[in-house]
Amino acid sequence: MSRTRVFLSLAAPLMIATSAFAAPASAETLKVVASFTVLADVVSQVGGSHVEVTSLVPPNGDPHEFEPTPTDAKHLKAAKVNFVSGIGLEGWMDRLVAASGFQGTSVTASDGVNTRSMEEDGQTVTDPHVWNSPVNVKVWVANIEKALSAADPADAADFKANAEAYQKKLDAMNAYAHSKFDTIAETQRKVLTSHDAFGYFGREYKVTFLAPVGISTETEASAANVAKLIEQIKAEKVKTYFFENSNDPRLVKQIAKATGAKAGGELYVEALSDGRGPASTYEKMFRYNVDQIAAAMAKSS
Ligand SMILES: [Zn+2]
Repeated sequence: MSRTRVFLSLAAPLMIATSAFAAPASAETLKVVASFTVLADVVSQVGGSHVEVTSLVPPNGDPHEFEPTPTDAKHLKAAKVNFVSGIGLEGWMDRLVAASGFQGTSVTASDGVNTRSMEEDGQTVTDPHVWNSPVNVKVWVANIEKALSAADPADAADFKANAEAYQKKLDAMNAYAHSKFDTIAETQRKVLTSHDAFGYFGREYKVTFLAPVGISTETEASAANVAKLIEQIKAEKVKTYFFENSNDPRLVKQIAKATGAKAGGELYVEALSDGRGPASTYEKMFRYNVDQIAAAMAKSS
């Protein structure tokens, strides 16, 4: 037993030294930028040690409304690849790209996602919150792998291996959520949140989310819409509400008070927590949300 340990501890540093020597092209780290933390985490899962990822929007930040600083412009200029989710999420990005002098490749990670649209103020809009279903994040991973391999072909085999491992994780996360929700009666699968960010989650797990604010946090709820929502919550007997880590909770609390819905806690909708929080990676964020929502439904049934 002890002999094996000695052998391993000697062999490990040797292997690292050999591989670094054998592949000088991969010694340099590829600098990339991602628009927000959820995407940045998935990029770093695929990129592994070959890639240095900077998220422009910080943890707990709102990716719809963001005011880039000169430091963000500097990060972008130094990057070879700029990842956005797309579908109208990052309305601030084009200006930042133009102002920064970025010379690299821009990649829309959500290209190829089976999107959903919804009616908002009489207009049909496409829902940008694709990451709230791991099925869509599998599309992200495929696009990220392709883009990283094009920017750093020497490390393509590692990107492929990382992507395959992470795809398996996403399948397991999807199976986990189905195991939690599929046994709950569909009439019980209803919750109130701050803004319409769980459409893809709702589609995959047949959960109904009601929200006073539309799919972008830039819009404001009108008094008439709020009144209508309160009636709807009462009629559909929605018993739990959640607030969001990246949004002002006041409106949803006010609505909950008018309807008698109880607080279910905080959901991580479009921003990871910092390292000390419960949602410091996409996987943790998704599982945390699933647990919170399923627990609230179990309590109210
Ligand atoms: Zn949103």
